[in-house]
Amino acid sequence: MAPQEYVTLTRTGDKMPLAGFGCWKIDTKDCAETIYNAIKAGYRMIDGAQIYGNEKEVGDGIHKALEEGIVKREELFIVTKLWNTYHHKDNVRAAFDKQLKDLRVDYVDLYLIHFPVPCLYTDVNTTYPPPGWIKPGESKYQYERGSSLQDCWREVEKICEAGLAKNIGVSNYNVQTLLDLLVYCKIQPQVLQIEHHPYLQQKRLVNWVQQQGIAIMAYSSFGPISYLEMTNTAQNAPPLMDHEVIKKIAEKHGKAPGQVLLRWSVQRKIAVIPKSLNPGRMAANIDVFGWQLDEEDFKAIEALDAGLRFNDTMEPAYGVDLPIFD
Ligand code: NAD
Repeated sequence: MAPQEYVTLTRTGDKMPLAGFGCWKIDTKDCAETIYNAIKAGYRMIDGAQIYGNEKEVGDGIHKALEEGIVKREELFIVTKLWNTYHHKDNVRAAFDKQLKDLRVDYVDLYLIHFPVPCLYTDVNTTYPPPGWIKPGESKYQYERGSSLQDCWREVEKICEAGLAKNIGVSNYNVQTLLDLLVYCKIQPQVLQIEHHPYLQQKRLVNWVQQQGIAIMAYSSFGPISYLEMTNTAQNAPPLMDHEVIKKIAEKHGKAPGQVLLRWSVQRKIAVIPKSLNPGRMAANIDVFGWQLDEEDFKAIEALDAGLRFNDTMEPAYGVDLPIFD
């Protein structure tokens, strides 16, 4: 099995694997088998979310691997996220309880607030998966009054205090929203999950967050590829896998371009969660330890930074007129 490395979370001392597996856009019909295969291939961290609409199937895959003794529960690091429609203090716990039930586990290792954006509530049991950004029947995004991030975090803390989420954190927060959280939190966030790849390096954010003792988890490490059918920015960006700079570094180390993109993060203690259903790629994407990029490689990749954000709610495909990263 490929070697693994970890980042130690400051509050609990829990070891979070630096390379895990992402669950976005895995069709429900393939999902249980994919998660089972990923665990068999050596993945121990699984990154899911309620909005992905496949948590029950993720749970089935995990359960199969546990039942067959491929892995023990305590060897897995299960991550999931609270969707925007459940931010109100009266709704967080019910949403989380459904997630635990769907995942068929007694606790998750990390629970994240998916976006610092409160959307109007929809019933967690009857409207599933939850709607994206706009409530069915409404024509535009509306924020939910009374759903402050502070109240939401307090409910997430209670889940942590109850031992149902070992660690808690946030996703898509910036320095301002994180600072606000640090001011009122009883339990410090342990992880920030953000879009992070050579075209969107966010160096200042990454450095500051790591200095606070908060670990960074990168999503969309391969850049535009998973947004091609969704955003113009992704269609117009040169594919990272075929980029001359990345290809040259890959050749130099006898690795694949995808491995270079992942290594670039994990070597700086930034966790990655790539997704692939292809067995060869699944195996390659976790084989990112035991070799090093050098200073020259880092310099060359640093020069690719272009501030290109692909997970951008202002792209027409999201259907929401809300510049959340501005
Ligand atoms: P990714 O960067 O993992 O890219 C996935 C795409 O790359 C797929 O099309 C896959 O077929 C292809 N691919 C995978 N391995 C490859 C390889 N070795 N060579 C060539 N192509 C390869 O994209 P992602 O799904 O956007 O991000 C990973 C995970 O991050 C998601 O599954 C999800 O868990 C998480 N995520 C979180 C947020 C958030 O808002 N917090 C947003 C997006 C994604």
